[in-house]
Amino acid sequence: MDFEEYRKHGKEMVDYIADYLKNIRERRVLPNVKPGYMRHLVPDSAPQDGEDWNVIMEDVERVIMPGVTHWQSPHMHAYFPALNSFPSLLGDMLADAINCIGFTWTTASDCTFVTLLAARSDAIRHYRANNNDLEDAEVNARLVAYCSDQAHSSVEKAGLIGLVKMRFLPSDENLSLRGEILQTAINEDLQAGLIPFYLCATLGTTGACAFDNLREIGPICESEGIWMHIDAAYAGTAFICPEYRKFMTGVEYAQSFAFNPSKWMMVHFDCSAMWVKNSGALHRTFNVDPLYLKHENSGAAIDYMGVRLARYFEEKVKNDPRFEIPAERHLGMVVFRLKGDNAQTEALLQTLNRGGKLHMVPASIKGKYIIRFTSLEDEVFEEAHEKKTVKEKEKTSWKKNREFG
Ligand code: PLP
Repeated sequence: MDFEEYRKHGKEMVDYIADYLKNIRERRVLPNVKPGYMRHLVPDSAPQDGEDWNVIMEDVERVIMPGVTHWQSPHMHAYFPALNSFPSLLGDMLADAINCIGFTWTTASDCTFVTLLAARSDAIRHYRANNNDLEDAEVNARLVAYCSDQAHSSVEKAGLIGLVKMRFLPSDENLSLRGEILQTAINEDLQAGLIPFYLCATLGTTGACAFDNLREIGPICESEGIWMHIDAAYAGTAFICPEYRKFMTGVEYAQSFAFNPSKWMMVHFDCSAMWVKNSGALHRTFNVDPLYLKHENSGAAIDYMGVRLARYFEEKVKNDPRFEIPAERHLGMVVFRLKGDNAQTEALLQTLNRGGKLHMVPASIKGKYIIRFTSLEDEVFEEAHEKKTVKEKEKTSWKKNREFG
């Protein structure tokens, strides 16, 4: 492809993408093809000569799209949102052209792992500054980290690959980690000769979007010399809005805080932002200084209406006596189930997902099988970028009902 062909096909691609996003609600959210479906749609061997770009683009609809899960669809209610936007699409295009190697901490899981390692080396250094009786590895073997039983699986993984004990503390009836539970665990561990050094608190848990109680656990971490990391992968974005900052009261005790713009800020997947109070611990832990990386400067974040949509959905569920909401809704996620045994809710989810019109995933909350419903920013593309006649145009149901909020 030469410059002129690139210009022509690039513009066609922009049109293809705009049409794709404009009409996305007409597609199944989840594909209904089986693994291997493509085998019969493509030749047995690669062509000897490059194909015409138009033929390749025809294959996109014929071969690729039938297997795609459409995460940008307003009918996608599974996991957490992973939205992009027109500015993000354009930014991604430019980033691809520059092909910048970012050398950055990429995902929320990495943030937990990186901060755990930094806290670990700090804890070993502090211990050894005061006690010379143990080698690094021996101090490491005594370290103990904490999180609640609602923390994301990446926290368990960070403990596994960071070679430290991870204690999962029971959350309260609101699925929140509380101070008393933490203090009791710390006292037990100190008695047992262990060294508490790290706690991963979650703001917006994966299972039910619950919030650990930073106001209670923060001061304990401070007085016990424990690094408090906050995993706000999903909920962090909501703190842009002053009305949701109440969920992070006590954040001042954190040593580090991470959230995913790629979940709720319409930035391309994958993107995590991490803040650390004192970057020195990270430098001490990760810095290597080989000659080949030296250079002359070495050393030297709209409208998030998904919440309103979730509130509207919650109202609907609450008004239906067949359902219950087993955990409080705080942001853009509602968890719900049919009253009665788990099998009924499981069957309901299967039926809903089988239709392909929408997609949700389950979670288990204290033995209860629940369905997680996350809301996207409905009509983000029309609203943000097609300012034209949306208001007069079809008023979608949730907009008509925004007074429900
Ligand atoms: N932490 C929480 C609370 C999450 O909900 C998730 C994913 O949904 C993660 C961490 C993992 O994020 P990532 O895929 O960016 O590693």
